[in-house]
This record gives sequence, structure tokens and C-alpha cells, in this order.
Amino acid sequence: MKILLKNARIIKMDDSPMLEGDILINGNKIEKIGKNIDEKGINQVINCEGNILLPGFKNAHAHTAMTFLRGGGEGLALQDWLFTYCFPREDKLTPNDVYCATKVGVVEYIQAGITASFDMYFFPIMIGKASEELGFRMVLQGMYNSYTDKKELIRLYNEYNSKENSFITYQVGVHAEYTLGDESKDNTLEVINELKIPFFTHISETEHEVKECYERHGVSPVKYFADKGFYDFGGAGYHCIFFSDDDIKIFKEKGVSIITCPGSNQYLNDGVCPVQKYLDNGFDVAIGTDGPASNYDLNMFLEMRILRENNPNIPAYEILKMATRNSALAMKLNNCDTLQEGKLADIIMLDSNLISDRIDIADSIVTNGNKDSVKMTMIDGKILYMNKKLLLNEDVSKMYEDCEKVKERINGEILC
Ligand SMILES: [Zn+2]
Repeated sequence: MKILLKNARIIKMDDSPMLEGDILINGNKIEKIGKNIDEKGINQVINCEGNILLPGFKNAHAHTAMTFLRGGGEGLALQDWLFTYCFPREDKLTPNDVYCATKVGVVEYIQAGITASFDMYFFPIMIGKASEELGFRMVLQGMYNSYTDKKELIRLYNEYNSKENSFITYQVGVHAEYTLGDESKDNTLEVINELKIPFFTHISETEHEVKECYERHGVSPVKYFADKGFYDFGGAGYHCIFFSDDDIKIFKEKGVSIITCPGSNQYLNDGVCPVQKYLDNGFDVAIGTDGPASNYDLNMFLEMRILRENNPNIPAYEILKMATRNSALAMKLNNCDTLQEGKLADIIMLDSNLISDRIDIADSIVTNGNKDSVKMTMIDGKILYMNKKLLLNEDVSKMYEDCEKVKERINGEILC
């Protein structure tokens, strides 16, 4: 199948200037980017009419299935929100619940121009199944727990990562220092050392968390994980709000990525991530929405806008790069980070009407863009969303009904 996207403004996100031209997609890859590409032998020609093509947004940190928790626990600070609202409900989840709740999140990603997500949640296999069925690229974060022992973690890591350009890949991490038991700590570390793989976790999200870590271990969460060897093969930290200069140095030396979640931090009143400081220290910062229960929306436009409000001096192009290329690289998705010949065709089209009178297109996207600006979402060479219509082989309203049933059942069980 060959698709030609004609007459577009193309932002490749590889630091080259914007190009006015065409993109030819062959199968799941970008075959050619250039001007006046020949239409001969093309199955589908789409006139982009000057609209903008760029790599799909990559959501570098999420708990997608938390759609079932949306709209509850408002006004609680992180620890209360987790321990009194989320955790008791999450205890009731079945694998099928996670499958149903993930589908809703994935549909919302597709509509918002997000083409891949990095998901940490219960029953990752079901998250992978729900995503793959919808043709969505998902990175699963596997964790040691009662149903995934060390051997199983290694097996899943090898199995999911054995196929080139697969929809589902697998990384290993833990939830956070403050929820980490000894068994999980030891086994996760053994897996990391055995496979020599990067490590991923929530880290220094609140002042309270850092203070407690000092009380427990005498060091910051960053130093705690680094001293034990968790970051010996790189990886990433989610949130990274309360870092000391020493923490920054450790992350830099170990080549660990910073993944910021501006919307969630605002929602939970965690604090503001010092993104400018990280850029000044040479980090390529990535962006995540975090779970939909601690955010207003699964929407990278909103994340970019909040980040910009918090850091008015960061150029819009850098922010756009964080939401696309940097996030892809932090998620270890090295083949869909930019629009280049030979890379995977994970492409979105944004409405050129949002450009208004701004000369800088990146500035227009970050300042004016919203979910309504998304005209097309293509993942792996397949168009899944076009002109406000989802092109999926599944009934979307049924997905929402199923997710609502999960929510009602669990809330009922909690009240009993
Ligand atoms: Zn999170």
C-alpha cells in the first residue's frame, strides 16, 4: 500500500527548516520526502492543502487505563490522592478491566495526535493487547509483582523486544522509591543487571517524597537508585521536580532522561518542574501526560502550553521537540522520532488555520494548537483518524460503556 501526502508544510523535527512538499509512504515506512513526488503507482493520494505534517506526539509517561478513575479524588494532594482514592480502587482491577479502560485512553490518544505512549500500569499484557488491536504503538513498563516474577520479567522483555518495529515494546522499572518493597527492589535490580537494560520510575515528584526518602535512607531518591545501580544502563525519571544539583549531576553522568508531566503536576499541585534548568544542563527533556485521572485531558497540546507558561523563555520549537522527538527517544522508540526516509510512518496532520499571523509555525502550534487542530493521525502507515472521524474497526461508544461499567462496579465494591 502506497499513500502520498501531497502539498504539505513538513516539519521533520530533525532541526532542518520546514519543507513545502510531499511525503510518500510505502507500507509502514516513509519512502520519500520531497517536492512533486510522482503519483504513478500510488494507491491513495491525499492533498494536504498546505496543512502541517509532523511526527506524531509521543506520550513519554502515562497510566492510560486510569480513564476508569477519571473525575474523582479532586483537590487531594498526591499522597492522599494515591492512598485514599486510587490504590483502593486499583486493588479491585481485573485484567479485563485494564483492557477496557486502556481502549478508551488509546482512542483519545489517536484523536489528539498521539501516536505512541509509554505505559506503567497493572496487567501490561492486556495494555499491549488493547493497543495492538487498535493499531497503536505502546511501550509497556514491566514491573516485578505477584504475577510477574524475575524469570517472567526477563521472558517478557526478550519476547516483546525481539521483533523489529513491533507495535508493542517492553521496558522495566518500578513505581517509586516510596512504594518499593525489598523483594521488588532486589529482583528488579537483578533483571536490570542481567539484561543490562535501562530503568524507569517516578522520582522526586513531591517535596514530601524526597524528605521521606532522606528519613528512610539518608539520601535523595535519585542517589538512592543510582547508588544501588538501578541507573547503570540509563533510563528515565518521571516528574523530576525536586532535584538537587547533585541529583542533576548523577542523571547527567548516567545518561538518564528527564520526563516532565506539567499537566499532572499542576492538577496535583506537586510543584513546577525546572525544565529550563535541565535544558541548561544539556538534557533533552521529554513530556508525558501522566495518567488521565491526574490530568485534565490526554492532550499533548495542553502539556506544551502549561510547560511554556512555566518556562516562557524556552523556544516553541524546543517544546515541540520535547513532545515528539525527545519523548520518542526517551521511550527507546528510535525509529519514529522524526520524519525521515526509512523511518516508521507515524505522522500527524495539523490544520494550517492555527498558524494565524505568526511567522514561526512551531510557535503557532504550541500557542494556538489544540486537539481540534488534528486533521489526521497515521500510525505505522495506516490512517486511524481523518477529518474528525476515527477509522477503527471497533465500536467506540461500546468502549466507553465498558469502561463506565468497570468504574461503576469498582465504586460499588468500594462502598460495600
Ligand atoms: Zn505517573
